[in-house]
Amino acid sequence: MRVLVIGAGLSGIASAWYLRAAGHDVTVIERREGPGLETSFANGGLVVPSQPDPWNAPGIVAKLIRYLGKEDSPFLLRPAAIPGMIGWGIRFLRNSRPEAWRCNTLACVGLAQNSLVNLRQLRAQTGLDYPFGSNGTMKIFHGQSQIDAQVAFARMIAPFGVPYVVLDRDATVAREPALAQIAGRLAGSVLYPDDEYGDARAFTAALATLSAAHGVTFRYDETVAGIETDGGTFAALRTDRGRIAGDALLVATAAWTPDLLSQLGLRIWINPVKGYSASVPLDGWNGAPRMGIIDDGLKIAMAPFGGVLRIAGTAEFAGWRPEMNERRARNVLATGTAVLPDLDGQAARHGVRFWTGLRPVTPDGSPCIGPTRVKGVFVNAGHGPLGWTFACGGGKLAADLISGMQPELDPAPFALARFS
Ligand SMILES: Cc1cc2nc3c(=O)[nH]c(=O)nc-3n(C[C@H](O)[C@H](O)[C@H](O)COP(=O)(O)OP(=O)(O)OC[C@H]3O[C@@H](n4cnc5c(N)ncnc54)[C@H](O)[C@@H]3O)c2cc1C
Repeated sequence: MRVLVIGAGLSGIASAWYLRAAGHDVTVIERREGPGLETSFANGGLVVPSQPDPWNAPGIVAKLIRYLGKEDSPFLLRPAAIPGMIGWGIRFLRNSRPEAWRCNTLACVGLAQNSLVNLRQLRAQTGLDYPFGSNGTMKIFHGQSQIDAQVAFARMIAPFGVPYVVLDRDATVAREPALAQIAGRLAGSVLYPDDEYGDARAFTAALATLSAAHGVTFRYDETVAGIETDGGTFAALRTDRGRIAGDALLVATAAWTPDLLSQLGLRIWINPVKGYSASVPLDGWNGAPRMGIIDDGLKIAMAPFGGVLRIAGTAEFAGWRPEMNERRARNVLATGTAVLPDLDGQAARHGVRFWTGLRPVTPDGSPCIGPTRVKGVFVNAGHGPLGWTFACGGGKLAADLISGMQPELDPAPFALARFS
């Protein structure tokens, strides 16, 4: 079958790889000059089956109202964005009911765990080379009640194969000496030793190169403008360079997916939610972290890989405003410094690279993976804050569904039809 994939980010490239492995003739069309240059460029780097819980946990409404318009808050809802996200917002609130949130969390941990297994298998089989680490993630807390809540959460997801270790303050610092300076403010941590972290952009580029070597065709600098059907079945793409015919189409265009699908009369609920990262060189930093660290209270995550410490955070519901807000970018660095007091000095000495991206977020936190109502048109998009964690599992699931093969996971929680 000739399969066309739109989008060369984590989702599109992982799908292309598994589609080719299933024997298809695969072409990837990407408007940028190479792979992984949009949302997959400089994300937090965490591959974390331990953090599958959607943002809309019970209580999110009060949190959003509390943070409304506050420039330095981890969640920022800009009033101007509200009119454009009413339908999405209603579904987002509906999914914050305790039972819905629990079901969504369990669906996501299943996909995340499957994804980690597939990622490791891919590395073992191909020797794929990109900077990564597998020392796990340490989630730190400043109060015992938060530790207790996290342990209850860890127990809920442990049956999916996510081990955890509860550490008191001393054991936390012994495992991660980078936290010694803030030991007095720590109550303890929950360590998830199986989690990984790594450079998503480098992974995407390396997998694109490998896929090309295995016969996938890449068409960069080419923008898809239209999708043609014939008798209700996918027929071809119209791009700024011509027409490409195919037997099946996979749309893997993150937050740009609703626009593309609307041409076919299809609605998909994905909202852009802006985030920031800062990358600070590790050069000469003896006390740098050895593993992924998440401070849940401060809503900040960090991980060391590829010669930098990557710090990421903040969620800004601001609609389609991709520009960098200097104050919010600097706030990520300042929040990181609250966890690692040496970070600011390290940034001053060696520089810092800021980046911003739009997370493609669905109202229930699960990506949309599977067929649409239009025969031959499939989607793999809406991975929100976990697109790196879901990349290989999501790509494999999309490829299996397109190929008509029995998927490794129940596809129902990821079906587009769940919102209709
Ligand atoms: C600040 C931040 C931190 C994050 N941290 C983490 C983390 O620690 N762990 C984690 O798991 N996830 C994280 N994420 C989420 C993750 O980065 C995303 O979910 C993931 O990158 C989405 O990948 P994608 O392939 O779906 O989208 P993208 O990488 O954006 O790829 C989509 C591609 O489609 C192309 N495209 C769009 N329209 C067209 C068109 N018409 N024609 C041709 N091409 C088109 C775009 O150019 C783009 O390259 C983070 C995200 C952000 C913003």
